[in-house]
Amino acid sequence: MKVVVVGGGIIGASSAWQIAGRGHDVTLLEQFGPGHKNGASHGSSRIFRHAYADDYYVSLAARAHSLWRDLETATDTALLAVTGAVDHGDPATVNPRIDALKRAGLEFEVLEPVAAQQRWPGLRFDTTVLFHAAAGRLHADRSVAAAIEAARSGGATVEYETPVREISGSDVVTDTRTYVADVVVLAAGAWTSEFVPQEVIPPLVTTQEQPAHFVPLRPEMQWPSFIHHPGALLDTAGIYGLSSPDGIKIGEHATGPVVSPRTRGFVPNPDGVQRLIDYAGKWLPGVDAKSADPSTCLYTSTPDSNFAITRSGNTVVAAGFSGHGFKFAPAVGEVVADLVDGSRRQGRA
Ligand SMILES: Cc1cc2nc3c(=O)[nH]c(=O)nc-3n(C[C@H](O)[C@H](O)[C@H](O)COP(=O)(O)OP(=O)(O)OC[C@H]3O[C@@H](n4cnc5c(N)ncnc54)[C@H](O)[C@@H]3O)c2cc1C
Repeated sequence: MKVVVVGGGIIGASSAWQIAGRGHDVTLLEQFGPGHKNGASHGSSRIFRHAYADDYYVSLAARAHSLWRDLETATDTALLAVTGAVDHGDPATVNPRIDALKRAGLEFEVLEPVAAQQRWPGLRFDTTVLFHAAAGRLHADRSVAAAIEAARSGGATVEYETPVREISGSDVVTDTRTYVADVVVLAAGAWTSEFVPQEVIPPLVTTQEQPAHFVPLRPEMQWPSFIHHPGALLDTAGIYGLSSPDGIKIGEHATGPVVSPRTRGFVPNPDGVQRLIDYAGKWLPGVDAKSADPSTCLYTSTPDSNFAITRSGNTVVAAGFSGHGFKFAPAVGEVVADLVDGSRRQGRA
């Protein structure tokens, strides 16, 4: 089968890897160059974690974990560093995650705030803390490059600087030629709505988010990935964070302004940066709160933050990853491959 994948972020790259691995003839078209910073998949870190309240995401993370390890072996690249992860904040949000890990048979610990603070002195905790050891950090840029390499090893052709202008039935039109595909995979992130009618997937909203890196005060300190859920002592937006090769990264979840991927400014909003500095000053004794180094990145979100993975005619859409899709990408690629070859009819089983 001839398959054209539109988009070379982590979802398109993982899909191309999985589809090519099944023997299909895959061409991936990416409008920018390798490692570009215009979408959602760039940088040095993304949280990998299993602690979701919804069993579907817990099992998708478990499948992704195994596939990330396969990708590391296939490309001889270190991608997933195991650091463990903590959730704290509103018990109404944390407790269902504990229940879901229990149902999945995954190991976890529940600690009181004082014990957690002794163990991870870089963080302050407000409520009972959920820790699961299997979580950690993915290297984002390396993961995209590895998935591309694995796709190529499976026989895929990858063409950069090749914007798709139109998709019409089985024709995928670029400036220089028209590709004819049996199936088109649209993994175009924030650009997806340019090609997909609203009735096929839920409405997508793109926001420009702005994490910041902070300098750790003691480089030898251990940092789990962390999610601080709002509602207990945190009366602002929820905060995620992790240690990364660029420092301790934190960000608010989905608070950025609505933007278009074609016209956005890439300039971090100073109020948002100040909120991260204030958070670091109050909750992260292990960083220099004045050292904020902000950057920007796109979320493309569905109304309920569930992913939009579906097939309509000869088009498979994989979009709306709502700021939490990276960790799942190889497993999403597998679902996309199932939709391509017809072994599955819906994205979510
Ligand atoms: C600040 C931030 C922090 C995050 N943290 C985490 C985290 O800790 N853990 C986690 O799991 N997830 C996290 N995410 C979410 C995760 O990074 C995204 O869900 C994921 O990267 C989405 O990948 P994608 O391939 O769908 O989109 P993208 O990476 O944007 O890829 C889409 C690609 O399609 C290409 N494209 C679009 N239109 C065309 C066209 N017409 N022709 C050719 N190419 C085209 C684009 O150029 C782009 O390369 C975070 C996201 C952000 C922004």
